[in-house]
Amino acid sequence: MRDLPKKLILEVTARCNFQCPFCYCVWHEHPELAGDDLPTDEWQTIIEECISRGVNDFLFTGGEATLRKDIWQLLAFTREKLPKGPIALFTNAASLTEKNIVFCREHTISLATSIQGLKTYAIQTGTRRSYAKLLTCMARAAELQCPFDVSITVTQINKNEIADIFAAAVLSHARSIQMGPMMLEGRARNLQDWALSWDEWEAIKETIRHLPNGGVPYGFADEMLCDCRQQPRHYLEKYGEKNHNPCPAGKSFGVIDPTGKFRKCLHTIENHEWRM
Ligand code: SF4
Repeated sequence: MRDLPKKLILEVTARCNFQCPFCYCVWHEHPELAGDDLPTDEWQTIIEECISRGVNDFLFTGGEATLRKDIWQLLAFTREKLPKGPIALFTNAASLTEKNIVFCREHTISLATSIQGLKTYAIQTGTRRSYAKLLTCMARAAELQCPFDVSITVTQINKNEIADIFAAAVLSHARSIQMGPMMLEGRARNLQDWALSWDEWEAIKETIRHLPNGGVPYGFADEMLCDCRQQPRHYLEKYGEKNHNPCPAGKSFGVIDPTGKFRKCLHTIENHEWRM
């Protein structure tokens, strides 16, 4: 039987209430990898089995995980079975309530989100929403001492306000900030108009390094293409990593997809090696 990484990302639903044009979820390219939501008891069986095989770190995501009515039940179940390991919930916060934040604090579950834009929030999320709800949730979570980690995806659309987005994350008391250029995967597979060049990405990193960060740790993900899948030559020439580091996918972390199957990374489409 396959060894499981210690950290697993659980894609508990393929449904989402946003339509980010740069969403990397693989089912935008291969709808058969999504499927209907598995019932609660199937996810509980998967989680129990993973813990019994040494998994000690879970990130719940989707799609948008909070669209599952039983997400709080699944999180509480996981905390009961894994009293000490890190558990996190990635959410766009569109339907997050104060009660949910208190629940997370009481169960020692951290939150994670993506700040897609400020003025560009609507176009970046494919909705008519504003960033206000998200930043309000983050600020309230900070007051309630529930940590929020932030990721920021940089595109041609939001690059001109990237300093403001970074400042918004800092001022909303993010615990950490991870930034990366848009990847040409999932819904963005052919969205080259939104992709950065490597020079643009390096310039953005330099801008960020000169900004006050209020003590919030931040990092950069230097990746525009997934290592774990075949890439066309013209993409590799234009978007391939300059300083290539071996990808830890499948070793230090892995993914259980909405159908309950294992994938080595979020972008992989090929390998469904293991099914509970
Ligand atoms: S990036 Fe996240 S919030 Fe946006 S459509 Fe994809 S799953 Fe939904």
